[in-house]
Amino acid sequence: MTMLDDSEELLSLELEQMRPSQYYTIKQTSWGGRAVFASVDIPRGTAVLRCKEPMAYSINLDFKKECCHYCFNYFADEKSLKYKIIECDLWFCSKECLNSYEEKYKETGLFETFKKLKSLFSTIQKKNSQKLYNCFFDDNTSVPITKLAIDEMWNKINNKWIPSVDKLGHNKNKKLKLLNLECFTEQEYTECRYVFQCLTNLVKICSKTSEVQAKVRKLFVELQSNELETITSSPHELLMHLKIFQICYIILNHSKLGQKAKLSTKLFRHIMGSESANSFGIWEMDENLESEDREFLGTSLYPEASYFNHSCFPNISRTREGSSLIFTTNMEVKENEQLCIQYGGIVACKLPFEARQRQLYEKWYFKCLCVSCEQEKAKKRLVQKT
Ligand SMILES: [Zn+2]
Ligand SMILES: [Zn+2]
Repeated sequence: MTMLDDSEELLSLELEQMRPSQYYTIKQTSWGGRAVFASVDIPRGTAVLRCKEPMAYSINLDFKKECCHYCFNYFADEKSLKYKIIECDLWFCSKECLNSYEEKYKETGLFETFKKLKSLFSTIQKKNSQKLYNCFFDDNTSVPITKLAIDEMWNKINNKWIPSVDKLGHNKNKKLKLLNLECFTEQEYTECRYVFQCLTNLVKICSKTSEVQAKVRKLFVELQSNELETITSSPHELLMHLKIFQICYIILNHSKLGQKAKLSTKLFRHIMGSESANSFGIWEMDENLESEDREFLGTSLYPEASYFNHSCFPNISRTREGSSLIFTTNMEVKENEQLCIQYGGIVACKLPFEARQRQLYEKWYFKCLCVSCEQEKAKKRLVQKT
């Protein structure tokens, strides 16, 4: 099954016709990007979007035993949660969460991939591969990374590596030997789980014919990718991506999930590139804590929610209820006004102008032109003149 090159009717719909909410439309703007605009006047306190669950997510390994893999609730005082699927390395806060998760994914083949991944991870020494990567790429390299150079690396995978793996048929061990996996880091392991979770939900979405599901799929396909930006700022990411792809590919080759969905390099690059551009952090939810003191538990992707732009003075607030995200107006919004959220949590917007701009650029690769930033820039100019 291919998941990116579909000619189905719904996939050919324009983004403007994709309306995740009755309150707004997504539009292509004259300044380039896409943005969300109110299609009616919206009173303060209106929930304009509710996302029931993420399409893809992964919990950081440091918190896997304290953060429920189903409801994302975090139990800081707990040594480890009581309910688990140990062979898959998954932990849950209650019998209900465990049962719901099992029920949801029992037919999908997700557990099998998690199990195989865990056993591979356990057998390979978990030393840091950063050094290894740096042998290939010096992060301070002056050689510019181009889209073409990245494409060339992936072409090698497509034209050489995949055929040589496929030739080995059922021999998984020989394939792993080909991979020459000397190390396997926690980050790589977490990313592999993110890919499997994403693929599983894509298969689910593609096999259903409901309009809502088709829209989510279309919104996923249309997500912006930051692949080039991410790799340009840290070149070793490319080698990490190649390695994660290879691990996932071999495991899928020997799993039920792999029979349902083919992980093409194109789909994989979109999963990774859209994660870096669009994912939301899963934060510990104690509202009394300043967000810099809250634990960062993992990342999650909700395609319906990924079209809000950033503003340092946002009119939309985001709250999490379990694994659901709710987007609510925090002021009155007039028709045609842009709806914006704040990237990077509360802290980012409390920073002074320059630090804020820097943080937004380093993490999301854009220069903020929001009302707040423009005003501060104008004020600075005025001060410089006098
Ligand atoms: Zn739970
Ligand atoms: Zn701003």
